[in-house]
Amino acid sequence: EQAELKKVIPLPAVTTDGRRVEIAANIGTPRDIDAVIATNGDGVGLYRSEFLYMDKDCFPSEEEQFAAYRIVAQKLSGKPVIIRTLDIGGDKELKCFPMPPEMNPFLGWRAIRLCLAEKAMFMTQLRAILRASAYGNIMIMYPMISGLTEVRQANAVLAEAKEQLRSERVPFNENIKVGIMVEIPSTAVIADLIAPEVDFFSIGTNDLCQYTLAVDRMNEKISYLYQPLHPAILRLIKRVIDASHQYGKFTGMCGELAGDPLAAIILLGLGLDEFSMSASSMPRIKKIIRSVAYEQAKAIATPALDMATPQQVAAYAAGVLKDWG
Ligand code: PEP
Ligand code: MG
Repeated sequence: EQAELKKVIPLPAVTTDGRRVEIAANIGTPRDIDAVIATNGDGVGLYRSEFLYMDKDCFPSEEEQFAAYRIVAQKLSGKPVIIRTLDIGGDKELKCFPMPPEMNPFLGWRAIRLCLAEKAMFMTQLRAILRASAYGNIMIMYPMISGLTEVRQANAVLAEAKEQLRSERVPFNENIKVGIMVEIPSTAVIADLIAPEVDFFSIGTNDLCQYTLAVDRMNEKISYLYQPLHPAILRLIKRVIDASHQYGKFTGMCGELAGDPLAAIILLGLGLDEFSMSASSMPRIKKIIRSVAYEQAKAIATPALDMATPQQVAAYAAGVLKDWG
């Protein structure tokens, strides 16, 4: 089995009938990049930038952030690197930024909400990312977007950061791609209205599942209700992918579901363009994708959308994996 998995490492993630998808990596620090290169990842689908901020007594400077982002972009030599802007709050706390206690931290002042309120901090990060974009194929991704207004507000800060760099004659990629995490149900529901104003979506199933099913992702008592294969989640995923394709954009997934062998063929069949996961999961998912035809995956995915319970979908997915995995 291990030897079989090793064999697919140098090969592309392509179906038997020629549909190429990307198998990318989730990383937290530049140290994670070596594993991505060793497993021949197609890029970084999620760079969780908050790890730069955690365990520090003060905010990382623009220079410090620039150095971290640049090294990742350079080491991946032209492959896409999606850097997610600061996603703190909820379960993620910062030493350097004490947050007021909240009744519902997961529904509170976090991620893009916090960044839009703390503009200087956001600006520092955007400048660092833009500067690093001169050294590779960097894309920007905003977390916890709940609607179009936040996209526009974040883009306004980004436009200002670009203007600053232009006037300082600091190089950056003028055409840097900007996308959003789809992890709040409202955004998934109106994905067709947001797609024209972004370059890509990346579905964060960890939070999308938490918010759609109203199940705290940290609460073990109700973990039996935490079902990423719930038909409601599958329908939202389909909605997001279809909306992006309608406008010629791509949809990735960087939540845990993207690295789950049970879900791989269904996600492929729904049209997912990029699967982002820990480097160690990549060969397994790639092997599954290489075993099936896209047309077949589509035929497999469609009935799952009409199943009424997550148990039904899970049993179906297990059968599919047995046949194709
Ligand atoms: C997600 O919510 O699915 C996700 C990828 O982000 P995080 O796990 O960092 O919240
Ligand atoms: Mg999330």
